[in-house]
Amino acid sequence: MLSTQGYAAMTAKTALQLFSFERREVGPHDVLITITHCGICHSDIHQARDEWGGSIFPMVPGHEIVGTVARIGSSVKKFKTSDRVGVGCFVDSCRTCAACREGSEQYCEAGMLLTYSGRDKDGQPTQGGYSTQIVVDENYVLRIPSALSPAGAAPLLCAGITTYSPLRHWGVGKYHKLAVVGLGGLGHMAVKIAKAMGTEVTVLSTSEQKRKDAERLGAFEFALTSQPETFTRLQRRFDFILDTVSAPHNYNDYVNLLKTDGTMILVGVPDKPTLLEPFPLILHRRRIAGSVIGGIRETQAMLDFCATHNIESDVEVIPIQHVNEAYERVLKGDVRFRFVIDLASLK
Ligand code: NAP
Ligand code: ZN
Ligand code: ZN
Repeated sequence: MLSTQGYAAMTAKTALQLFSFERREVGPHDVLITITHCGICHSDIHQARDEWGGSIFPMVPGHEIVGTVARIGSSVKKFKTSDRVGVGCFVDSCRTCAACREGSEQYCEAGMLLTYSGRDKDGQPTQGGYSTQIVVDENYVLRIPSALSPAGAAPLLCAGITTYSPLRHWGVGKYHKLAVVGLGGLGHMAVKIAKAMGTEVTVLSTSEQKRKDAERLGAFEFALTSQPETFTRLQRRFDFILDTVSAPHNYNDYVNLLKTDGTMILVGVPDKPTLLEPFPLILHRRRIAGSVIGGIRETQAMLDFCATHNIESDVEVIPIQHVNEAYERVLKGDVRFRFVIDLASLK
C-alpha cells in the first residue's frame, strides 16, 4: 500500500482537514501519478457537503488532476515515467457495455467509477486529487499536451470536457447562436471553447462585474438575468442554451429565449428541482437536455483542441491550506474563474 497525504471532508458538516490514507499498490496496468495540481470544481463542494446524497466519508475531493508519471506497471503501454498526465471525474467503468465500447464511459450501464466518493472493485472508497499521488489504470489516464501549463490545464479535466462534450454532441458551430448561463468555472470554459468553434456566444449572468470578463473571453454579448428586460429582448434568439448554474433557478424563463427547435442543455446541478411549464416547450418544439462530462477519447480530443486553440482555464493558484476559504469564495462567485491547488504545498 502507498501512504498518501491529502485533505479530506470527514463529514458533510466539517471543514476539510489534513488526512493520511493508503492507495493501492501499482498493478500491471496501473500508473502512479505524482499530483502537481488539482482544480476545485463546484461539484467537489456539492459532494463534500453531501448536497446530492450518497457521499462517502472521509472524502478526499478533486477530479481535475494533473501530475507526472512516477512509476508504471509491468504491462503499461501508453505512458512512461515523467510524462505529464491528467485524470478527470472517473477512473474505471465496466469496459464491456455498449456505452463503454463506443467511448462514452461516462454513460456506462454499470455506472462509471468516480475518482472520489466511489467504491473500487475491492470495496475500498476512491479518493481524489487533493492529495500527493494517485494510482489509476492507464486506460483512464489522459495525456496533457506540452503547450498547456499544468495549472491552466487541470480544470479542463472537468470544466473543459463538461462544456466541450455537449457542444460537440449537438454540433454547435459557426451558424449557431449560443447562450451560456452562469460565468463560473464551467461557464468561462464554455465561452472560450464555443468561440473557438466559431459560435456566437452570449453570456447570461447575475454579476454585472463579469461584463468585462465576458468580453475579454470572447463573448459577443452580455446580459444580466436580474433585469426582466433581458428576457423580453432576447426572446427566441438562441439555437442553444448551455446552463452551468449551480443553484436553483427558473428554467422556464430561459426556455423562452430559444428559437423554434432550440435546445437547452443542463450541465449545472442545483440541489433542488424546478417545475417545468409545458407550453413554452410545446409551442416551439423546444427541448431540454442534459449532459455529464465526456468519455476518455473525447477528453483527449478536447485537450488536444485546447492546445491547438491556445485555450486554458483562467486560474487562481492556491496552497492546499487555503482550500476551505476557497470553497467559501466559490459559493460567493468570487473566483476568476477556477481555484487550482498547487500540491507542492502538501509536501
Ligand atoms: P461555479 O464556478 O461556482 O459557477 C457557477 C455559476 O453559476 C456562478 O459563477 C454564477 O455565475 C452562477 N450562479 C451561482 N449561483 C447562482 C444563483 N443563485 N442564481 C443564478 N446564477 C447563479 O461552478 P462550476 O464549477 O462551474 O459548476 C457549475 C455547476 O455544474 C455545479 O452545479 C456543478 O456541480 C455542475 N457540474 C456538472 C458537471 C456535469 O458533468 N454535468 C460537471 C461539472 C460540474 P454568474 O455570476 O455569472 O451568475
Ligand atoms: Zn467537476
Ligand atoms: Zn460500461
